[in-house]
Amino acid sequence: MKNDCLFCAIAAGEIPSSKVYEDEICFAFYDIAPQAPVHFLVIPKEHIGSVAEISGENSPVVAHIFEVIARVARELGLESYRVVSNIGEQAGQSVHHLHFHVLSGRDMTWPPG
Ligand code: 5GP
Ligand code: ZN
Repeated sequence: MKNDCLFCAIAAGEIPSSKVYEDEICFAFYDIAPQAPVHFLVIPKEHIGSVAEISGENSPVVAHIFEVIARVARELGLESYRVVSNIGEQAGQSVHHLHFHVLSGRDMTWPPG
C-alpha cells in the first residue's frame, strides 16, 4: 500500500466506495463521477502506477482483473461495454494507481475524444 494513494486507500476500505466486487487480488467500485449509466473501476489491491508499470512480474494480476471484468459484466447483464485505461496526463489519467474503467449503457463514439 502506497502512502497518500487514493485508490490504495479505497482498496483497503479506508475510504468508502460503492463496491461492485472484491477478492484478494482486486477491487471494483462505482466511479464517483460516472461517464455512462454504468461506470465502475477495477483496480489491483497492489499498488501499480499505470499500464506503463505492467511487467512480467505483475502481469498475472492484470490477467486476473480482465477475468473479473468479464465475469462482473456478465453478472450485471452488460451486453456491450468499453474498457479504458488512461496513461499519463495527456491521456487523462488523474489517479496514479492502475485502474480499468468499465463503461456501459449508452452509445459510444469511436475514435474517443
Ligand atoms: P482517470 O482520470 O485517472 O482515468 O480516472 C480516475 C477516475 O477515478 C475518475 O473517473 C474519477 O471520477 C474517479 N474517482 C476519483 N476519485 C474518486 C473517489 O474518491 N471515489 C470514486 N468512487 N471514484 C473516484
Ligand atoms: Zn495505490
